[in-house]
Amino acid sequence: MPELPEVETVVQGLTPHLVGQQVAEVDLRRDGLRRPFPADLRQRLTGAHILSLSRRAKYGLITSDRGTLVFHLGMSGRWRIDAQIAEKHDHLRLLTGAGTWLALNDARRFGSVDWLEADGGGDFAPFAALGPEPLGSDFTADYLAAALRMRGTPIKNLLLDQSIVAGLGNIYVCEALHIAHISPLTRGRDVPRKNIVPLVAAIRQVLADAIAAGGSTIRDHRQISGELGYFSHSWRVYGRANQPCPSCAAPILRHVQSGRSSFYCAKCQR
Ligand SMILES: [Zn+2]
Repeated sequence: MPELPEVETVVQGLTPHLVGQQVAEVDLRRDGLRRPFPADLRQRLTGAHILSLSRRAKYGLITSDRGTLVFHLGMSGRWRIDAQIAEKHDHLRLLTGAGTWLALNDARRFGSVDWLEADGGGDFAPFAALGPEPLGSDFTADYLAAALRMRGTPIKNLLLDQSIVAGLGNIYVCEALHIAHISPLTRGRDVPRKNIVPLVAAIRQVLADAIAAGGSTIRDHRQISGELGYFSHSWRVYGRANQPCPSCAAPILRHVQSGRSSFYCAKCQR
């Protein structure tokens, strides 16, 4: 499943193909993905001038002079470049003024496409509930300490709560907790204050490393899925049950929390 770094990689990969371009043609090949495409999407996008691309949590934003197309890659979404010949599962294609076809391809159709008006109207509900960006300046140790205070829920679950911090997924939480020497089972209120600065730094580090890995593999890559970031990256604990901890060689443990696997070292993480 594409996580925050993959979405960031996709946004960075699409940027040179879209920014400064006028949308010449829009090909909607079905009515929607997990929900219907916005009404009049073809009319809204055709002729729009693309101003910028950005990311919020796991959403990609394509901002034009007419408004912003918001996409989510769901479980299996990816963008294809040079998609002049439509392939199976290409659900939306755009032709730029430069003659490049881009296709949003999503075999399982858990992704979504939404539209925000240029005047900021039409509140997009999923954004309203999101906490700060983990790579943004609002995500500080003071902020996180306040968010964890009084919480009896394990730190692992709190970091996956999108209203506390936006866009963090299972892999990156497992990795950051290992770097910061915090057990995923520790209750939020029991995480020592002195460990919160390293935890914020670890979260930023694992995301930045993954974005760098994805970005380094995207050049000359015709399918902007970002998923190469996974293959080029070796995880410290994620998916490594019973293998040696990279710090102390004790076996990595796997523990299911709220239906998601946590991987951690009981010796290094308290
Ligand atoms: Zn260890």
